[in-house]
Amino acid sequence: MQSGLTQQALERAIEYNELILYYQPKVSLLDGRVIGAEALVRWNVGEGTILSPSAFIPLAESSGLLHDLTVRLLDQVVGAAVTVKEKIPDLALSMNVAPNDLQSKTISKRIEHFLDQKIIDADDLQIEITESAVMGNFEQIREDIVRLTELGIKVLMDDFGTGYSSIDRLSQMPFSALKLDQGVVRRMGTSRQNLNVVKSSISMARELRMTSVAEGVESAATYHFLMANGCEEAQGFYISKPFALEDFISFAESEHSFDGSQIGRIHQTVHNVLYHRKCLFDVVFCDRIGAKACLPSVVDPDINEALEQSRIGLWYFGVGQQLSGMAPFDSLEQPIRDLHKLSHEILYREYGDSNGDKQAAAVSRMNSLVNQVVSLLHDLESALLLMPEDSSSGSL
Ligand code: C2E
Ligand code: MG
Ligand code: MG
Repeated sequence: MQSGLTQQALERAIEYNELILYYQPKVSLLDGRVIGAEALVRWNVGEGTILSPSAFIPLAESSGLLHDLTVRLLDQVVGAAVTVKEKIPDLALSMNVAPNDLQSKTISKRIEHFLDQKIIDADDLQIEITESAVMGNFEQIREDIVRLTELGIKVLMDDFGTGYSSIDRLSQMPFSALKLDQGVVRRMGTSRQNLNVVKSSISMARELRMTSVAEGVESAATYHFLMANGCEEAQGFYISKPFALEDFISFAESEHSFDGSQIGRIHQTVHNVLYHRKCLFDVVFCDRIGAKACLPSVVDPDINEALEQSRIGLWYFGVGQQLSGMAPFDSLEQPIRDLHKLSHEILYREYGDSNGDKQAAAVSRMNSLVNQVVSLLHDLESALLLMPEDSSSGSL
């Protein structure tokens, strides 16, 4: 903490709006577009001195001022979101909120008010909460996050890799995204083990149907590795430092040549399909060995949902559509639909009157469909890989 900073000075700063937000762009690694920004607080103490959050957030916390500060910043972010939206559609601004701030419900009520009054849409604003804070008071924080998600607000887990969240706890939290901590991202180049931490975090996010976001991306090498491995969003000095609002808007409005590719996302989809098959086969297997009681815990949630909401459907009918026109992509639609339908059949037969012969035929058909889908995904991956350089960046 900066020496000489007092509670009174901070109180005044909050009251006189000396706390300002800078905006650091986030880019989609799937298509290279600027998709939004993270709002980061700064204290403009005058005479050209701007303090970063580590200099005063601890004071705000210990003196009980953090809540007031967050409420003011929320109003600022919402104002910024309105300004941004007038100029550029479809950008989301995220802000950092401490879990204690959520407990009082003032923040969620205020967000609800902004939504009710149609000042912003739920897609315009996101909330970031750090991993270590989340795991401290799990049940309470879960309730607070659920309240926000019920309003349609996306909540991101920040600094993932610095806390000790288990996959079990993580899966119980309705986070929309995992933001890999910048330390984790930075260390990735130093050893194979650290690289694997990043790769498996991306895979885990995908299995939990969360978007993976990397922060602290400082080099082209890091950017491209993340892209090749299916990380979906990136933020860091390689893309840009945090800006004042008007500079962020100019940045987002100008033409950029950030690379983007779905190649890593397709690779993740191969994993998802194989995992889906495994989950379904677990159900059949448990039934065969007379262990029906274990079924609910092994059923892959994808099976119970509409195709468009499944992991493969979210990609195929979402951002994947940018690849429409490529033969392997277009050929995927029917087998994906068949796979989904067949998964239902297999599952309902297991829960109902299992008919051994029919189930055996379905399982074998399942195998050929999975092989077909995986093979087409590999063809698509190769087609993207071998694409001429100038057309493999940008929208592909
Ligand atoms: P964070 O939310 O993880 O934000 C990312 C931090 O990493 C920011 O530092 C950002 O400037 C920095 N950063 C971004 N890209 C790079 C990079 O490529 N390399 C390096 N070395 N650093 C990068 P900042 O702005 O100093 O914020 C630090 C932390 O303070 C934030 O971490 C967040 O936890 C907290 N914070 C920031 N704004 C707020 C706020 O409005 N409210 C609360 N409660 N906390 C905030
Ligand atoms: Mg953050
Ligand atoms: Mg962070």
